[in-house]
Amino acid sequence: MTEMFQERLEKGKSAINQADFILLGGGAGLSAAAGIKYSGPRFTENFGPFIKKYGLTDMYSAGFYPFKTEEERWAYWSKHISINRYEPDATPLYKDLFKLVRDRDYFVITTNVESQFMKAGFSPDKLFEVQGNYGELQCTKGCHQKSYPNESIIKEMVNKTVDCKIQSDLVPKCPVCGGKMDPHLRINQYFVQDENWYEMNQAYNEFLQKTKGKKIIYMELGIGFNTPGIVRYPFERMTYENDHATLIRLNKDNPDGIEENKDKTIAFTEDMQEVVTKFMR
Ligand SMILES: [Zn+2]
Repeated sequence: MTEMFQERLEKGKSAINQADFILLGGGAGLSAAAGIKYSGPRFTENFGPFIKKYGLTDMYSAGFYPFKTEEERWAYWSKHISINRYEPDATPLYKDLFKLVRDRDYFVITTNVESQFMKAGFSPDKLFEVQGNYGELQCTKGCHQKSYPNESIIKEMVNKTVDCKIQSDLVPKCPVCGGKMDPHLRINQYFVQDENWYEMNQAYNEFLQKTKGKKIIYMELGIGFNTPGIVRYPFERMTYENDHATLIRLNKDNPDGIEENKDKTIAFTEDMQEVVTKFMR
């Protein structure tokens, strides 16, 4: 029998207050709960011409659409990056999460790529974006381990899109091999792990070392099963191995974890914003 909402809230609050460390793990469900939705009106209102021309149905699948030319591919992607990375301000949910942990010893690991953690105030040196960030480009073949900020070029592409195409002279080219470029996202084996990626990977591992066996909250936020090996399974394993750990899972679809952690887990399927707001009171 699941405990009542109020009871779980009190337990969660008290665990958070007593913990010495908080590790946040952010996944797609967090950004969706924050309002950055990849389907519905947010998609149809922004991609009318693309929907008409290519039959696109949402921003997840559109990312895999085989556009025939680079001019069309970047017309789509610049709009996608613009409305997910550059146009939104920090959303209330991410800002509230920041308020919840800002005075604590915390760290964030996330598969999200829209920079919401950064915009909400989280310190860049406590933030490991494992899967990349929309705000950068990389060589499609990963011919060299570097990523390139893309804000100005993306804005120019969006402004100069005509009939679902950008001008040919705006198509980005790899400065080393002269080949195609991609957004800096882990979509295949060519993902570029640049200097910053390795630094943050190390900072994350140091945080894990430092908090081993300590009083820590592992807080899972909207983590599904697309890439469970990044946050979900490690958080479960670390909870299992640590008698002083509490796993707080906010997930409306997949709240159930491993049986062995039952007594150390507090799970919420309720609205994420409501739960986080109530944690703060
Ligand atoms: Zn290259």
